[in-house]
Amino acid sequence: MFVSDSAAVRRPRIQSRAEATILHADLDSFYASVEQRDQRWLRGKPVLVGGGVVLAASYEAKAFGVRTPMNVGQALRLCPHAVVVPPRMSAYAAASEAVFAVFHDTTPLVEGISIDEAFLDVGGLRRISGEPVEIAHRLRAEIATKVGLPISVGIAGTKFLAKVASADAKPDGLRLVEPGRELDFLHPLPVQRLWGVGKVTAAALHANGITRIGQLAELGEPHLRAILGPAAARHLFALAWARDPRRVETGRRRRSIGAQRALGRRGRAPEEIAAYLDGLTDRLGRRLRAADRSCRTVVLRLRFDDFSRATRSHTLLEATDATASIRHAARLLLDTAQPLVTERGLTLIGLSLTNLDDAGPRQLTLPLEPRAENTLDATLDDLRRRFGSTAVTRAALLKTGEGLSVPLLPD
Ligand SMILES: [Mg+2]
Repeated sequence: MFVSDSAAVRRPRIQSRAEATILHADLDSFYASVEQRDQRWLRGKPVLVGGGVVLAASYEAKAFGVRTPMNVGQALRLCPHAVVVPPRMSAYAAASEAVFAVFHDTTPLVEGISIDEAFLDVGGLRRISGEPVEIAHRLRAEIATKVGLPISVGIAGTKFLAKVASADAKPDGLRLVEPGRELDFLHPLPVQRLWGVGKVTAAALHANGITRIGQLAELGEPHLRAILGPAAARHLFALAWARDPRRVETGRRRRSIGAQRALGRRGRAPEEIAAYLDGLTDRLGRRLRAADRSCRTVVLRLRFDDFSRATRSHTLLEATDATASIRHAARLLLDTAQPLVTERGLTLIGLSLTNLDDAGPRQLTLPLEPRAENTLDATLDDLRRRFGSTAVTRAALLKTGEGLSVPLLPD
């Protein structure tokens, strides 16, 4: 049997959703908290962990304006009575491991961001573990008793909002962004809370009188583009309206996707075969774009009447997610294989897209608008999303149909 390699690498991926089921859990002043946990006398005192540079500051020190990274001399000028402690990396690694063990006990969908923070998807755990808020309460309590560290948790329908919420909850707090109240939560916050707003961008925004996220949202993308350029404007405008489609990512992403179509044993005219190939191309192009991926290599797989097989592949100069480019490559491969097809008779045609890559940062934050606006691909994708995958088909396939769809695994 013809086996597509598309099922080879699979991982659970969960999209942003209307319910608030994504937790962002972030330990508070991690290194400093470990030091206060292990050395009683440091509790309640301003603590700086570091040597030349402050790696972590306890909340008692942060209250004096100490930030990380900042050099220790400067920090001590702000907070002269702070205790400076050298870092103990092995203690932090052990604490991190214990915290992640609690994360993994909470849900199988854990996406570690760094040594002290992770996203957890708790959607689908309601019946076993309860509401996300209860799960988050329990998570914080467990980390306090088992590891002895304070952790803040944000809960929202998207990763971005969950992260903003955990920052808002600090120190040692819990913050839920209720579905439908996202903008009420987001818009009063300072623009620095948006991912991608560093010192330079913040200064440019402030120079234009924009200090709150709501102001940025109201400004509109064209005006924002004039201040920050197209890429940043697009990214920040989407975030300001709480659009963030990223899923909790737990492992390796699949490296190829494929589809195939059995043709039976009666002979098929070359243009009929080409039309089937186009149908496969359309379907895979759509899946590629829906998953925010691009491909470099197009692989044509053929099975013949005598059960022999052939594979032809073509690697593109540039990664693409455009149906037209994929189709061009697929058609070239079919043309090359035509003598073989004529000679042996084709019973199955398959197409795989491999060398998959993320489509690029430009796509990260655009769930509500088609990624390549005004292109045929985006229009067709949108029609199919709204009206079903059979809503639009190629004229050449109208009579035969695209064939039975292979069940789609998440890409
Ligand atoms: Mg942290």
